[in-house]
Amino acid sequence: MKATLDQVVARLKRAKRALVVGHIRPDGDAIGSVAALTLILRKLGAEAEGCIPDRIPWFYREIQGTEILRGVEELRGRTFDTVAVLDSSDISRIGDAIDLFPDREPDVVLDHHVTNSGFGVLNLCDPGYAATAMIVHEIGKRLVPYDRDLAELLLLGIATDTGFFKYATVDERAFTVAAELTRHGARIQPIASAVLEHRTPKTIRLLVEMFRTLRLEVGGRLAYAYVSADMFRRTGCDEEETEGFVGEIRALHGVEVAILFTEWPEGEVHVSLRSKNYVDVSRVARALGGGGHPRAAGCTLHVPRLQDAVTTVVEAARAALVEAGI
Ligand code: 5GP
Ligand code: MN
Repeated sequence: MKATLDQVVARLKRAKRALVVGHIRPDGDAIGSVAALTLILRKLGAEAEGCIPDRIPWFYREIQGTEILRGVEELRGRTFDTVAVLDSSDISRIGDAIDLFPDREPDVVLDHHVTNSGFGVLNLCDPGYAATAMIVHEIGKRLVPYDRDLAELLLLGIATDTGFFKYATVDERAFTVAAELTRHGARIQPIASAVLEHRTPKTIRLLVEMFRTLRLEVGGRLAYAYVSADMFRRTGCDEEETEGFVGEIRALHGVEVAILFTEWPEGEVHVSLRSKNYVDVSRVARALGGGGHPRAAGCTLHVPRLQDAVTTVVEAARAALVEAGI
């Protein structure tokens, strides 16, 4: 059912052995909000574990407080009386973490995706928030005193989901919360350094390879590029090193829709969709089995060849641009 903040706060207060889960291919909001809610529950006296069901890109580990996070394997065999799922629009987003609470729904779902399916007992899903971390902050400030780690983890979520305060989702509330967190000691500099300044020579080589595949269509309003499995092998890069690449495509002047295709492993293509002003890319992603936000969405396609994914998604994006009347 749809829940109020008060109901969620009351439910979390009852937790004794809690599990907090984020999504696969984790981003700063998943990492920051899961680690933060885990800290909040521990401050309340609960035994709490935070789980990210996938590899955490190495540079997020530079942010203090992220060491609290565990993988699914480390938590197998444990039992929990309270499960909270964060920043995940449907249950498939939590990957193998589903094994940690068999035969039941999550007790609490906190999210800000328009595409959220409401798969928990208590669902607090409000696309009005620029980041799930802002919802966690609404809860946290009612429950516990803040320290720097907690405040900085929440700021990580807000900073990354707003593109460091430059997306259309940034409103007065986002700045107000950022100011509150800063007052509690959170620093934007280590976050920006970890998230925006982690490129290595091999990542730059991969970025150059990606830009070689760049195509522009619809009078320059649609831009797309890909990173193939072969490119990963040639440059010695991992999938996590494509973080920020789709933003480089969107940064082109005049582009409305940017798409990055990432082939890894072979046969699987992750599609990252971004838009600037008009096109609702969450609809495009949802029609292809994924989800997300109006300006940032994604899906994963299982296709024999990378080019098959490109053809399908570019066609859908073209149609969305035409429909938006651009
Ligand atoms: P990214 O392109 O960075 O992987 O994801 C952008 C946004 O789309 C994020 O908010 C993410 O949660 C969402 N998203 C990405 N891939 C998927 C997917 O396969 N399924 C769903 N439901 N959402 C996705
Ligand atoms: Mn988010």
